[in-house]
Order: sequence, then C-alpha cells, then structure tokens
Amino acid sequence: MSSVVRIERVFKEYLLGEQIVQALNDITLAIEPGVFLAISGPSGSGKTTMLNLIGCIDRPTSGNIYINEENVSQKSANELADLRSRSIGFIFQTFNLLPVLTAAENVEYPLLRRKDISAADRKRRVDYFLDIVGLSKYANNRPNQLSGGQRQRVAIARALAVKPAIVLADEPTANLDKTTGIEILKLMKLINEHLGTTFIFSTHDQKVIDHANRLVKVEDGTIKAFGVRSAKRKWNIARVRNLSDIAAENIPG
Ligand code: ADP
Ligand code: MG
Repeated sequence: MSSVVRIERVFKEYLLGEQIVQALNDITLAIEPGVFLAISGPSGSGKTTMLNLIGCIDRPTSGNIYINEENVSQKSANELADLRSRSIGFIFQTFNLLPVLTAAENVEYPLLRRKDISAADRKRRVDYFLDIVGLSKYANNRPNQLSGGQRQRVAIARALAVKPAIVLADEPTANLDKTTGIEILKLMKLINEHLGTTFIFSTHDQKVIDHANRLVKVEDGTIKAFGVRSAKRKWNIARVRNLSDIAAENIPG
C-alpha cells in the first residue's frame, strides 16, 4: 500500500547560539492513509519538529519527506505553501485563531489562497464544516467569545475546510480540561472514520494515546517504538532496536 507520509532518514538540527541541537536523529517512518496516529514522547523529544517537517512548515537538515509519494524536500517555499493549502490541515495546542476574525472567517481563511474555489463554494464549505463541529450558532462569534473547546472546534473546522488528506495536530488537547480534551479527540476520531482523513497528533497524555490506532514513540529525537492497535483494541508494540527494524513491514498486527 502506498503511504500518505513517508519520512526517510531524516535529521533535523537547530542552531541555538553557538550550539547545535539535534532535534531529530535519523527518523524513518511510513504512515498509511486513514490512520489515527499518536506521536508520543516527553517534552523536548522532537514531536513538534516532526509535525512541522511533515506539514512542510520547516525542512529537514538531511533526508527526504514524501507526501502522497511526492518528495517535498526539493520544493520551493511557494510550492510548499501551495501543497499545504491543498493537502494539509493544522491544529495547534493554543488554537492559533485570528482574534479579529469571526469563527466563520477563521474557517474561511485558508481557503482564500485557493483561487480555484469560488466565494459561494467557500461559504458552503464554511457552513458545512462549522456544522460538523457543532458550531453553526457561533459562526459570528470572535475567538474571545468562545470557550477553549469551542475554539479548538473552530480550528478543526478550519483544518478540514481545505479537504486535506492529512490533519496534523500538535498537542491539541493540552490547553483543555480533561473532559473537553476527550470530546475534541472523539470529534477528531469521528471525522477520521467518516471522511477517511489521516490524523497525526502529538501528545504526552496516555488518555489521548488510548484513542489512537497507531503509535509512534519518540525520545531524544529517535523513534523508540511503533504501536498498532488491533480490532480488539489491544496494543501491539514493537520496540525499535536498530535501523533495520524501522520499516512498515515490521509493524506487528
Ligand atoms: P517536543 O515537541 O517533543 O517538546 P520539539 O520538537 O519542540 O520537542 O523540540 C526538540 C528539541 O529541539 C528540543 O531540544 C528543543 O529545545 C529543540 N528545538 C526546537 N525548536 C528549536 C528552535 N527553533 N531552535 C533551537 N532549538 C529548538
Ligand atoms: Mg511540542
């Protein structure tokens, strides 16, 4: 089966003053379409870096990243922006809504780049996705007139509005109380099941991990384990010992 995301021997270094920080250290990973994948690991382990690379917000220091089997590592900034506006939706820990825009305008925002979508179609999409996240009544509210959970629902609608193949969510529940966090996760799962959208989210919360059906554990910028959840909801975890283990064929289940 072809992968929706493929990461091949990726390294990412940051320069912090005089010091080189090795954020990702030889990551190889293939992600199948339609999964609900959790990237787990302690703070500083490289989760955000990995999501930013998959989302083409940042580039690897070396190695290749493929989105729908297309190598994105060589693309120009403009080509990447174009790819993002068609294939990738983003959800952030701090929601990242534009405070001066209403809920509906926030959802519409990423569509404005898409010259192929008419104003009428934009409006239809905004209405449709606000309805999916249960916020039709709040279309004209600004973010400061919404609760945290409602803000994250707007962010989910905004991510979905481009009809992306992949939604990337960086600790989407970290700024929400437990109950709201689980609600948001269940909503994401429902969308994953009904629309077939691949979800890749980072977390360090076991309750959040338990909703996933694929797991990638990272530590110090390397993958420590892969997990696949069976139909019986039992996790099969494969610990990574060396690079030859890191291949899709080796994932159990
Ligand atoms: P996580 O999301 O798992 O907390 P990150 O991907 O944010 O981890 O960070 C991985 C490592 O890279 C950490 O050591 C962090 O301090 C470092 N790092 C992340 N972004 C930068 C940056 N822009 N400049 C320098 N170091 C960074
Ligand atoms: Mg992070």
